[in-house]
Amino acid sequence: MTEPDALFCRLDQRNRIVGVGGAWDRFALDNDGAAVVAARVLGTDLFVHVGGEPTRALLDTVLWRVRHAGRSVVLPFRCDSPDRERHMEMTVEPEPGEGILLAYRLLRTVPLPLAAPLRFSASGVPRGRMLFRCSTCNRLLRDGVWCEAATLDDLPAIPIAVSYGVCGECRDMVERLLPN
Ligand SMILES: [Zn+2]
Repeated sequence: MTEPDALFCRLDQRNRIVGVGGAWDRFALDNDGAAVVAARVLGTDLFVHVGGEPTRALLDTVLWRVRHAGRSVVLPFRCDSPDRERHMEMTVEPEPGEGILLAYRLLRTVPLPLAAPLRFSASGVPRGRMLFRCSTCNRLLRDGVWCEAATLDDLPAIPIAVSYGVCGECRDMVERLLPN
């Protein structure tokens, strides 16, 4: 069962958001997510709010497999704030009529060992200066290696331009957890 204090988001069979609940608005506003406050997302397609084609493709696979198997899956992910690692999990639960209940729960936070808060921006920046960021573990791709942002000491103080993808380890982890 979903805990009452968890954030949740209910989808219809076509992945339209038909309900949100929990401390959703406060969570969104605390996390630069003003665009996803409840009033604005109801009736919209979930995928409109998911950044990066690789992330959308993986989420599409997750939703399809959960519906197909009729079984829930719990997927861990990171949703860091500028100065804290935020370890979360998302429960994807099938509902009657091919609906889906997405429930998000914060497991723990850890302060990031940083001199200055990290800020990321996924829009409005020149493509050439963009870094890939894994939407699941939040690591950055640098010279072909996925690294914790906090271990890179030459990141600029301005918002870092990122495009969201999924690293190989996270892709494998999700694949292992999904029902067949
Ligand atoms: Zn990853």
